[in-house]
Amino acid sequence: MALPLSADRIGPLTQDAVRIVGACKSYGSLKVLKDVDLAVHPGEVVCVIGPSGAGKSTLLRCVNRLERLDAGLVLIDGDPIGLVARGNHLRELPEARVAAQRARVGMVFQRFNLFPHMTVRDNITQAPVLVNKETKTAAIAEARRLLAQVGLAEKELAYPNELSGGQQQRVAIARALAMRPKIMLFDEPTSALDPELVGEVLAVMKGLSDTGMTMIVVTHEIGFAREVADTVVFMADGQIIEAGPPEAVLDEPRHERTRDFLARVL
Ligand code: ADP
Ligand code: MG
Repeated sequence: MALPLSADRIGPLTQDAVRIVGACKSYGSLKVLKDVDLAVHPGEVVCVIGPSGAGKSTLLRCVNRLERLDAGLVLIDGDPIGLVARGNHLRELPEARVAAQRARVGMVFQRFNLFPHMTVRDNITQAPVLVNKETKTAAIAEARRLLAQVGLAEKELAYPNELSGGQQQRVAIARALAMRPKIMLFDEPTSALDPELVGEVLAVMKGLSDTGMTMIVVTHEIGFAREVADTVVFMADGQIIEAGPPEAVLDEPRHERTRDFLARVL
């Protein structure tokens, strides 16, 4: 595959934690991502809002290459994910190398996908031991630190079905963090929760942003976006309609589609 984009379109690579350039993705004849560009700086929190079907989840899945783009690039810390440059050409990376790249990107989904037959501690330590080759002792120490960070120090030996949905989602965050990701992606992490459990998960995410973690958060929690996001991105119909600081996009949206969407969710 020839390099699809000129260097001037990509720009200086090193300053961005995530750079999405010209992302296109279709499912059959349905164009789900239509030439999406997005840059996320180190330590930045980007909240992505928009109607169902806009392509938000697809965009996140392309960032850690759970899905492949049809065209365009995703760069993580300047490295094209899934691809390696050879002269003027890009080659596909072997799956083992893609897995190593993916480990730099943590992801938390709508439904907590903890392993039901494992304790909280084993859920958190499994990948660091198996994939990152950490010692069990070091992984357990890190799991304890992370459980304290998400407010669940006393649940180390509990099983997922003994926890509330909010607690399970906080464990899922700790489990993702245990891989020491540089970037965290969240896909509607609170939308499957009972309303009274949403706040505790958002509080953990806010705490994580305070540590300087780079985060892309797809959410319908406009209050969270307003409070925590550096940048709010409004997506509709496979495109970024507008992006900017929360007070601009949420309070003075420039586009009618953004206004319509906000009028329905606020
Ligand atoms: P959002 O997260 O904004 O609701 P998605 O990225 O999940 O949007 O989906 C965008 C569009 O792509 C939707 O119309 C959805 O039905 C479609 N879609 C998503 N994943 C697939 C898939 N694996 N196969 C076919 N269509 C899909
Ligand atoms: Mg979605």
